[in-house]
Amino acid sequence: MKITEHIKKANNKTLFSFEIIPPKKGNSIQQLYNCIDPLMEFKPHLIDVTTSREEFVYIDKGNGLLDRKTTRSRPGTLGICAAIKHKYDVDTVPHVLCGGFTKEETEYLLVDCHYLGIDNVMALRGDAMAHQKYFQATEGGHPFAKDLVLQIKDLNSGKYLHNVMETDYKSDFCIGVAGYPEKHLESPSLQTDLKHLKEKVDAGADYIVTQMFFDNQKYFQFVEAAKEAGIHVPIIPGIKPIAVKRHLQLLPQVFSIDLPETLISAVESCKTNKDVRQVGVEWAIQQSKELLEANVPFLHYYSMGKSDNIKKIASAIF
Ligand code: FAD
Repeated sequence: MKITEHIKKANNKTLFSFEIIPPKKGNSIQQLYNCIDPLMEFKPHLIDVTTSREEFVYIDKGNGLLDRKTTRSRPGTLGICAAIKHKYDVDTVPHVLCGGFTKEETEYLLVDCHYLGIDNVMALRGDAMAHQKYFQATEGGHPFAKDLVLQIKDLNSGKYLHNVMETDYKSDFCIGVAGYPEKHLESPSLQTDLKHLKEKVDAGADYIVTQMFFDNQKYFQFVEAAKEAGIHVPIIPGIKPIAVKRHLQLLPQVFSIDLPETLISAVESCKTNKDVRQVGVEWAIQQSKELLEANVPFLHYYSMGKSDNIKKIASAIF
C-alpha cells in the first residue's frame, strides 16, 4: 500500500516505521531478520532499505601496477525489500539513488520494483563517492533527486526512456524524497534548500522523510517553513538515537546538524557507551512523545542495523 494511503487510513494516528541498511557483502540476511524480529510487535507500516554508493578498490596486479575496480560493499537493497515484504507482509521502501546509476539502470530497477509489488520508492541523489569531495553526476545518470522523481513520474504515466514506447500498463509508485530541517550540507541557505525541496514535490514527490534532528523545534520550524514555501505533502520526522560517544563529533560532521547542549552534556558525562546508549534512548523517547502529541504522520527511526534501542523507544511510545 502507498505510504500516503497508510497515512490517510491511520486518521491522525501516528504510525511506526524504521530504516535498515543491507548487511556488508558476504554476510547473511539473517542479521537483518535479527534486527527486524524484535520490532515486529510494534506493527511497522513500512521499512526503508538504504542503498549504498559504489566505491573503488585497487587490486594489486603483482607487476607493480594496481587495477581499479568498482564494488558495492552493501548490495542487495531490492532483494532485501522483496525478502522482508514476503517474510513479514510489510511494505518495504527501496532507496533509489541518482549517484552510481544510469537512467537505464534506474528504469530496470523500477520495473523490478513494480513486478515485485513494491508501491513506494524513496528518490535520492546520494552522496559523493568516498574519494570525491563533491557529488558528481554519474555519466548517463541524474544530477539531482528532482530529475529522478521526474523519471519515476514518467514511468507512472507509462512513459519509458528514449520515447521507445508508451503503454497503458503503468506503475503507480508513491514517491518519497529527503528533507533537511537544518538544511542540506551543500545548500547555501535553508530557504534555497526549501526551494529545491519544493521542486521535488512539484515534480511529483508524495511525501518527505527528514534527516535526523535532535531538537524538535528544528522539525516544527521546518514544517512551518515548508508550508509557507507551498509544500503540502506529509513530512515524516526521522529520529536517530545516539548510541556511542563518538556520535557527538561524527553526526554533526557527516550530516551538518546541531546537537542540543543538554544532550551533549548528558553524553559527555557517560562513563561507558552502554550509558550513552541509554541516554540516546531516553532522548529519543522524549522527542518521540512530543512529536506524537503534534500528530506527526509517522515516527521513523534510523536503526543502523541494531534494534535493541529502537525496541526500548517503541515500547515507550506505541
Ligand atoms: P537533492 O534533493 O538532489 O539535493 C542535493 C543538493 O542539491 C541540496 O543541497 C539541494 O538544495 C541542491 N539542489 C537541488 N536541486 C538543485 C538545483 N536544481 N540546482 C542547484 N542545487 C540544487 N544516501 C545514500 O547514499 N543512500 C541512502 O539510502 C540514503 N538514504 C537517505 C534517506 C533519508 C531520509 C535522507 C534524509 C538522506 C538519505 N541519504 C542517502 C543521503 C542523501 O543521498 C544525501 O543527503 C545527498 O547528499 C542529497 O540527497 P537528496 O536526495 O536530498 O538530493
